[in-house]
This record gives sequence, structure tokens and C-alpha cells, in this order.
Amino acid sequence: MTAHISAEALAAYARGELGVGDPMTWPVEVHLEACADCREQLLPYAPPPLLTMLEDTGTAILARASAGPRPVRSRRVRRFAHRWASWSMMPWALMTVTAIIAAFLLDVAFPLRPSVVLLLAPVAPLAGLTIAWSRHADPSWETIAGTSRAGVDLLLRRTVVVLAVVFPLLAATGWRLGTNPALWLLPCLTFTAATLLLGGLIGVSRAAMLLGGAWVLAVAAPALIAVELPVLVRPESLPGWGAAAAVLTGLALLRAGDHVRLKSWN
Ligand SMILES: [Zn+2]
Repeated sequence: MTAHISAEALAAYARGELGVGDPMTWPVEVHLEACADCREQLLPYAPPPLLTMLEDTGTAILARASAGPRPVRSRRVRRFAHRWASWSMMPWALMTVTAIIAAFLLDVAFPLRPSVVLLLAPVAPLAGLTIAWSRHADPSWETIAGTSRAGVDLLLRRTVVVLAVVFPLLAATGWRLGTNPALWLLPCLTFTAATLLLGGLIGVSRAAMLLGGAWVLAVAAPALIAVELPVLVRPESLPGWGAAAAVLTGLALLRAGDHVRLKSWN
């Protein structure tokens, strides 16, 4: 289009007299998009409130730009925290610390009864995994699930955070009670790997609840009722736990792609 827009048409457009259905509106807008001269001609016709708003916006943008980039340190810290954990994991961490300490105190008070620390160890990280990778517990799960880093990479980071809370406590309590470290470490790793493997199919939270519930109902509760340490937490079971931990970790890594799917967040 070579001819410019007439002053009358520009004034009518600026006053809002050209409605959406007006046959003039479309050619005027197309021309304005391409023609800087007509855009400049349009400016004096713009209503005062719009001019004030444009001026305020321009001033605000210039002020932001001249203030320079915002300090990134706090943002980096926040982003780092989000990559590794979410704040919703805090109550879990407190609960787990309390549970392990309570188990330790019970073991100290009743040394002849089955060790509550050993019975708790396999399922100690599971509540953390339920919180770390859940669409209910993490308010920003949809945003995270939509990013390219979501999937097994982020899940493993959060698992590391969970284990970093659980391991030192179990190590300290186990050492004080004089138990073989492998007795809590191998079951702990086995159940974590099993949760990650099963979690790819049915969701991490569901897998953690299923496996944790099965352990409590089938092993821990009967042992406490019968006042007898089950064979599963005795040293003769260690080769079995070692093999299970190795196989399940390998399978969980092979099936890592499952966690890209949204089902993993169930
Ligand atoms: Zn023009």
C-alpha cells in the first residue's frame, strides 16, 4: 500500500469509532503495523489517558533498565534449592528425624526387644520420596514437570537430598547401638531403588506408600508383636539385600525414562 491513511481515518481510529466489524479497521491496522510515518501521525489523536499510560510505562522501563541487572545471588540460591529440593520437604525432614530418634530411644530403653531402628530403616526414606515427587505435595510440580530438566535427573537429585537426611541419622544411631551398618544401609537402598523403579509405572508416591505399607504390615508390625527380630533384618540376609539392591538399582536406571511421563508424579 503506497497511499498513507487519511487524517480523518486516523482520527476516527484513535477515537475508537472504527469497530471490529468496520471494513476500514483491518486495512488501517495492517498499514499502521508497517508504516512508521502513519504511526507518528496517529500519536496526536490518541486520547490523553492512553498518552499518560504510555509515558508512565516508558518511564518505568527506562528506570528498570538504568538500575542495571538485579543481584542474581538470591535467585541462584532459590533456583539451586528448587533443583535439589522443595520447601514442602521440610515437614517430612522434621518428622523423619523425630521418628528415627524415637526409634533409637526405644532401642536404648528396651535393648532385648527387636531393634526399631533396623525395622524402620528400609522405609525411612519412603515418606521423603512421597513428598519430593508428588503432585499433591509440590505446588509447582506442573511447572517443574514441563521443564526439560524434569524426569529422572531431578528425581535423583531429590532422592539424594532425602538420603542425605536419612543416612547420617541411621549411621549415628546404628553406631551408638553397635549394629552392623550394612543391616540398615542395604535395606534402605533396596527400598529406595524399588520405589524409583515401581514409581515409573504407578507414580513415586503410590509406590512409596505401597512398599512402605507392605513392609510395616508384613514385617515390622509382626516383629514388634512377636517380640522377635525377623530374619530379614539379621546378618544372614545381607547377601540377599545386597543382590536385591544391585538388581533394583540397575533396573531403576534402565527404566529411568519412565519418569519423564506425568504418571511418575502420582
Ligand atoms: Zn502510512
